[in-house]
Amino acid sequence: MYEVTKFGGEGKKLEDYGKIIGEEALETIKEKAENLKGKSFIHVNSTSFGGGVAEILHNLIPLMRDVGIDARWFVIEGEDEFFNVTKSFHNALQGNKDLKLTEEMKDLYLKTNEENARKFDLSQFDYVLIHDPQPAALINHYEKTQPWIWRCHIDLSDPNKEFWNFLRAFVEKYDRYIFHMEEYIQGDLDHDRVVIMPPSIDPLSEKNRELSESEILKILEKFDVDPDRPIITQVSRFDPWKGIFDTIEVYRMVKAKIPDVQLLLVGAMAHDDPEGWIYFEKTLRKIGEDYDVHVLTNLIGVHAKEVNAFQRASDVVLQMSTREGFGLTVSEAMWKGVPVIGRKVGGIKLQIIDGESGFLVRDVEEAAERVTYLLRNPEKAEEMGRNAMERVKENFLITKHLERYLKLMNSL
Ligand code: UDP
Repeated sequence: MYEVTKFGGEGKKLEDYGKIIGEEALETIKEKAENLKGKSFIHVNSTSFGGGVAEILHNLIPLMRDVGIDARWFVIEGEDEFFNVTKSFHNALQGNKDLKLTEEMKDLYLKTNEENARKFDLSQFDYVLIHDPQPAALINHYEKTQPWIWRCHIDLSDPNKEFWNFLRAFVEKYDRYIFHMEEYIQGDLDHDRVVIMPPSIDPLSEKNRELSESEILKILEKFDVDPDRPIITQVSRFDPWKGIFDTIEVYRMVKAKIPDVQLLLVGAMAHDDPEGWIYFEKTLRKIGEDYDVHVLTNLIGVHAKEVNAFQRASDVVLQMSTREGFGLTVSEAMWKGVPVIGRKVGGIKLQIIDGESGFLVRDVEEAAERVTYLLRNPEKAEEMGRNAMERVKENFLITKHLERYLKLMNSL
């Protein structure tokens, strides 16, 4: 376990958000923080880079600090084999029923948690928040004198029960369990301890801040993307649940009708996701020699600002995931006024109101039809984009998220 001490959102102040959410909303947050000044709060997860949880913590922790909470962040460490095991947990909990949980996997999981627990004393904090399954077993190793909260970021709508039953033994020891949405609550948990809280995006981060036209054009030029031709984009890790192959299919169907369309596949490699490399290669093979498909990764210099520019330059954003805990990428695009077409699953359903702030689709055919429609009807796309922005502003900004955490802390 090591501590993250440099944050993407370093130096940000709650006051900076006044121009977006208004002074009244700021006051509400400050009031809720009043009793909590000086309290210490530790977040523990399994990667400081890549994926939604790291994205949120880089931005949330500086804000928690700004309102007076001594927030910190530890990341657990383990061998590659441990992360292979926890990736199986992830896949099984998202619904892969073929996976089997062996004694060897359990042992490695427990041993790695124990080793991490030995390195840091979590009992010194006033609140402990453990993110996702990887570090969930840490709770076994401390004398618990403060509230422990477990937060699940994955789509638990239909988990592999063998894995869930194993994990539940740890989860049950927590004082609160946070899920993004009702549909993820497991029936065998104590309902009084359940908290529903969606994640959020930070409108002032490098990923989401406004960019000038010339900044966007410069980035498109650098990566050889033509700004004068239609652009559809999906941003996601190289993970089988993200539906990237379907996105390529959708693009091909659209291209049959609108030949100059381009597809941007923006994808990063997370540190805790060894499977990513395999899927990355499969994606390249699937694309073959089509140079209108651009694969844009952190390996070639696509970082937060570039992702921001690609999202802003898109006419339509796709999210064809077959399971999706939340999908920050959906809110990120919506916040930029871009209509998103997403599969009707998990957290995507929570964000897009079908036909109003984007489209929810069941399959590749429907998605292709909606993309074609929006590319041919730019006024409609613009209207949806405006609604999308409003929807994110009301529900999924980091300030709202902070407020929800403060409410939870006060309730404990
Ligand atoms: N992301 C990125 N570069 C990429 C791919 C993803 O910065 O090439 C970011 C993306 O913008 C989002 C986060 O990683 O902020 C992914 O979060 P999400 O909730 O969509 O999915 P997760 O990866 O957690 O399953």
